[in-house]
Amino acid sequence: MKDIGKFKEIISKPLKVVVLMHPKPDADALGSTLALSAYLTKKGHSVTPISPTDYPNFLNWLPGNEKVLVFQKERPQPAETAIAAADLIFCLDFNTLSRIFELGEMVVRSNAIKVLIDHHLEPERFADFEEWNPTAASTAELVYQVIHDLGEDAAIDQDIAECLYAGLMTDTGGFRHSNTSQKVFRVAAELVAHGAEPAKISKLIYDTNTLERLRLMGFVLGEKLQVLPEFSTSYIVLASDDLRKFSSQTGDTEGLVNYGLSVKGVSMSVLIHQRKDGIKLSFRSFGKFNVNTFARKYFEGGGHKNAAGGQSDLTLEETLKKFLDLLPAYKEELNTSLD
Ligand code: 5GP
Ligand code: MN
Repeated sequence: MKDIGKFKEIISKPLKVVVLMHPKPDADALGSTLALSAYLTKKGHSVTPISPTDYPNFLNWLPGNEKVLVFQKERPQPAETAIAAADLIFCLDFNTLSRIFELGEMVVRSNAIKVLIDHHLEPERFADFEEWNPTAASTAELVYQVIHDLGEDAAIDQDIAECLYAGLMTDTGGFRHSNTSQKVFRVAAELVAHGAEPAKISKLIYDTNTLERLRLMGFVLGEKLQVLPEFSTSYIVLASDDLRKFSSQTGDTEGLVNYGLSVKGVSMSVLIHQRKDGIKLSFRSFGKFNVNTFARKYFEGGGHKNAAGGQSDLTLEETLKKFLDLLPAYKEELNTSLD
C-alpha cells in the first residue's frame, strides 16, 4: 500500500470501522473481511463487518461469522447507521461501488476514509488508500500483506490465519489454478505457522455437502451439462424449478461451473442460473480467453481473466440464446485459447 505510514497513523487511535464485501460472498470475501475485522478489533477499533446478502451455510464455521451484519432491503437501517457513523470504510474483494447496490450509495454519501483491498481487474478509483493487485490470487493474500506491512505479523492468531487460509485456498481452487504463485505458497506457509490447519479447513469447505447438493450435482452432470466442441465451450442452464427440486440453498451452485471446464478440450464454461434477484452467470476459462472482458462487455459483469461473473435482465431462454449467438464471433479465440 502506498502511504502505509499515513495509514498506520490513521489507525493508531480507536475508530468506528465498517468492512464491506461483495454480494453472495465466497470464502475469500468473507474470510478476508473476518480476518481484517478480527485484527482491527484486537487493535481497539469498533468494527462492523457487513455482507450485502446472505451466504452459504458451509462458511458459517469461519471464526467471527456471527458478528456479520447481513443487509436486508426491507430493513436497511442498521447498515445505514453503521456506514453513516463510520470513520473508516474498507471494501474487500470487489472494486466498484455499484456492485453492492444501495450500500454503495451509502458509502458514497459517507465522509469516512475509504480503503480498497482487492484483486479484481479494472477498479473504480473511489478509495483514499488502496491495496490493489490483480496478480494476487486472493484478497486474503492482500489482507495478509497489509497486516505484514504494518509490522503486525504477531497479531495473526489462529482465527485470523484460518479465515485468510480459507480465502487463499478457495480462490486458487485448492492451489490448482494458474494464479497459484510462489507467493501463495509462502503466505499459506505463514498462515499454517500461525495456526491454520489445511486438512481441517479443506474438510470444512469442500467436504460438508448436504445430500441434496450432491444430488443436484448428479442431476446437473447427468442432464444439464452441454458441450459445444466446435466452440470449445460448455454450458449449464439451471432454472429456479430445478433448484427448488433439490431444496437448493445459497452456495449449492458454487463450483458447478468448474465441472464444465474440466471437460477435455473445453476452454470456456458458463453456468447460467435463475435466482430470486434475477439471472446470474458464472464464467470460467482456461488459457488465453479472457472472461473478464467477455462478462463486462455483454453481461454487466467482470472479475478476473479466467473467472468472472455477470447478470442478465432477459429470461433464462433469452440469456442462453444471447450467449450462444455470441460464440461464432469468438470461435477462433476459443479454439486456440489452450495453445
Ligand atoms: P463467481 O462466478 O464465482 O460468482 O465469480 C467469479 C469471479 O467474478 C469472482 O472473483 C467474483 O468476485 C467476480 N464476479 C462475479 N460476479 C460479478 C459481477 O456481477 N460483477 C463483477 N464485476 N464481478 C463479478
Ligand atoms: Mn477473491
